[in-house]
Amino acid sequence: MEPVIGLEIHAQLKTRTKLFCSCPTEPGAEPNTLICEVCTGQPGALPRMNGRALELAAKAGLALGCRVNNRSLFSRKNYFYPDLPNGFQTSQLDPPICSGGGLDIEVPGGVKTVRLNRIHLEDDAGKCVHDERRGRTLVDLNRAGTPLVEIVTEPDLSSAGEAVDFLKKLHALLVFLEVTEGRLEEGEFRCDVNVSLKPVGARELGVRGEIKNLNSFRHVGKAVEYEVMRQTALYEKNEPVLQETLHFDPVRLETRTLRTKEEAHDYRYFPQPDLPPVWVGPEIVEAIRLTLPGTVEETRDRLTGLGLRDEQAALLLDRRGALEYFEKTTALFPDPGKAASLMEEFLLPACLKEDLAVADSPLAPEGLARLGELLDKGVLGRRAVQEMFGELFASGRDPEELAREKNLLLVTDRGALSAMAVEVVAAHPEEVAKYRSGQEKIMGFLVGQVMRKSRGAADPKGVARALLEAVGRPEEN
Ligand code: ADP
Ligand code: MG
Ligand code: ZN
Repeated sequence: MEPVIGLEIHAQLKTRTKLFCSCPTEPGAEPNTLICEVCTGQPGALPRMNGRALELAAKAGLALGCRVNNRSLFSRKNYFYPDLPNGFQTSQLDPPICSGGGLDIEVPGGVKTVRLNRIHLEDDAGKCVHDERRGRTLVDLNRAGTPLVEIVTEPDLSSAGEAVDFLKKLHALLVFLEVTEGRLEEGEFRCDVNVSLKPVGARELGVRGEIKNLNSFRHVGKAVEYEVMRQTALYEKNEPVLQETLHFDPVRLETRTLRTKEEAHDYRYFPQPDLPPVWVGPEIVEAIRLTLPGTVEETRDRLTGLGLRDEQAALLLDRRGALEYFEKTTALFPDPGKAASLMEEFLLPACLKEDLAVADSPLAPEGLARLGELLDKGVLGRRAVQEMFGELFASGRDPEELAREKNLLLVTDRGALSAMAVEVVAAHPEEVAKYRSGQEKIMGFLVGQVMRKSRGAADPKGVARALLEAVGRPEEN
């Protein structure tokens, strides 16, 4: 038997407001503060389509090689749950915003195209919060009406590894396109995993289990593995696999039955009468196509073309928000190599350490650009940066100001440097004589002496210049 896997991915679109009203879409707000009559399903309230959501869905579709349907339709998917105030989800049955398409993944011995069936728009439900202590359940509707795309693959995947690779690649692409923020822990990218078994080479598919709502790549891998094992055991005992909806238990790493599978007709889909058909004309599709930034591979090539090392390019592409931060930094400090190494060496590790998204770094791109400039001008040394970066990052302050306060600015002042050089020359007449007789290596020793005198705070280039002047002065001959 071989596994057959199909995925339904829900990605939250990166819009400021909800799909059918102007309530903001922010995580972490007080419960039931981001709501209105539309997203709480009050009688008579009418939805109004968010154009930006439509655009982002089409953008994802174009990047994934889908056909964007000029006309698509919203339907009501009816079911009851306390976090669904309308009593239906507004979703797209037929036609959806995008059809077809695919994404390639690498498999041993080549590339496999995972075909997409469709991408459609829908709104998210609210959230039930279970208050175990007082034995009650509360409903928070802040999420209700948040725009999602559902991306549905054909059952083309055949192992846990392939499913995880596909999801990681899709996630990276959607984040890169800025279609979604993709924060897994906020549920902004989650998926349902359909798994069945069939005899090797057979065309007909077996009965599937559908594991709901996974928001971790690792859990997807574990859930597929467990489900393949469970179904294999059933086949071996000659027992039927039931078409079921399952839940994955992340502690025991196993799946459990939630309910027997509902069919599409259970939802009594019908066209949503409150919304007109969605029209995205060919000229709009072409305009959206022009906003595509090129593929991840093209961007990697562009970055290495700017002189970044492969690992630096990979780092900027893999860490959410890093590329954007880099672009903003280099717009102000146009030295891509140095900007990338400052990010690699200081900024990204600091974000990791503080568990912060790059976009939430207290040190803004302006600050990092300024730091690059100061290093370039020799006002700051690498050592000083090392010493003060923690504080600079946390405070987001101006680097020069902070360095001055901490006495870390390099001494570049000509007068101060030449005074020190003159002292060193006077204190080491023998070495100076050797230098003048042609032993140029002695210069290193003299520079070292000045650096010591300044306790490491002198700009080495300036020191060398000052010493050459001091040694060469005729009155000292
Ligand atoms: P729904 O789950 O909403 O009923 P579909 O029937 O369209 O919707 O299937 C959803 C997902 O299940 C798709 O990703 C599809 O590829 C996958 N799928 C369908 N049949 C199977 C099967 N026998 N084994 C594994 N995956 C399947
Ligand atoms: Mg499904
Ligand atoms: Zn609202």
